[in-house]
Amino acid sequence: MNRRKVLVGSLLVGLMGSFSLAHAADKGLVGISMPTKSSARWISDGASMVKVFTEKGYKTDLQYAEDDIPNQLAQIENLVTKGAKVLVVAAIDGTTLSDVLQKAADKGIKVIAYDRLIKGSKNVDYYATFDNFQVGVLQAGSLVDALKLKEGKGPFNIELFGGSPDDNNAFFFYDGAMSVLDPYIKSGKLVVRSKQMGMKQVGTLRWDGAVAQARMDNLLSAFYGKEKVHAVLSPYDGLSIGILSSLKGVGYCSAQQPCPYVSGQDAEVQSIKSIIKGEQYSTVFKDTRELAKVTVGMVDAMLSGKKPTVNDTKTYNNGIKVVPSYLLKPVSVDKTNWKKIVVDSGYYTEAQVK
Ligand code: BGC
Repeated sequence: MNRRKVLVGSLLVGLMGSFSLAHAADKGLVGISMPTKSSARWISDGASMVKVFTEKGYKTDLQYAEDDIPNQLAQIENLVTKGAKVLVVAAIDGTTLSDVLQKAADKGIKVIAYDRLIKGSKNVDYYATFDNFQVGVLQAGSLVDALKLKEGKGPFNIELFGGSPDDNNAFFFYDGAMSVLDPYIKSGKLVVRSKQMGMKQVGTLRWDGAVAQARMDNLLSAFYGKEKVHAVLSPYDGLSIGILSSLKGVGYCSAQQPCPYVSGQDAEVQSIKSIIKGEQYSTVFKDTRELAKVTVGMVDAMLSGKKPTVNDTKTYNNGIKVVPSYLLKPVSVDKTNWKKIVVDSGYYTEAQVK
């Protein structure tokens, strides 16, 4: 072969290489709309998705709306205008997206509800989430175990906190928890001294830790003079930290008066640290890396004309239709297993949580 042929040959190989690379890297744009950066879980959700989508050859545009509904709507409209093929949305308020999702549907854009169900719209193709009812079962189960209620101990005082009433998940967490706590409340082994029960009374708008802290302050001053509170059902670590601050403010979490058992969710760094210190009692770990993988798998399947894998086609009715869902398993974490669950799995380094 003369030098010219070699040169032309290698040019061709180079060109073909770059064509195939360009092809692999051009599966289109995925618009990702996350609720807020104020909680670490959504930051890792976003980062995991960008990583896995990029590995699969997609471009991504990741937006955070800082818990502001008009902001999230504007961001999604913008993603539609930018030509996203798919939208992955964790809604701030699951009922506010119908108009913008109609615009997306008119352009043939597919939609995945991410972690939180999008309600009141037919334009939601799939839902990737965790078993949200089970999250509540685990939260309440950890309190029941800590109080040794199954061994007949009690009565104990408990107060209940719920998540944001505009987030469908909050009702699943609460209902799951109450499925465990109700029998003990009915038998008198658990006493809610404030009598505040039901999401209308115990919900915490926008999952705001300061709101939970203020409510705990009120509960303590109105219902716990001499009496002590022994457990607090909290649906999310950000609330648990607020609740614990309130408790510490009146002398709990000290040598004289231990912390009540407080549950949580998301295995946030501050809460794992608190669990190690013996303050927060438990949390629920939801591996956002796995949720990202499930979501990317759904998108990949949809865009190549295949049916995404789902494992639940009954539970998540959004008011217009039952959205086919994939539910991952949540895991309860406390001082006995935090290392195995969040460090050995590579989610955090030990240095991060100590
Ligand atoms: C998520 C939880 C999270 C909460 C607050 C819920 O929709 O499922 O993991 O703790 O929102 O961000």
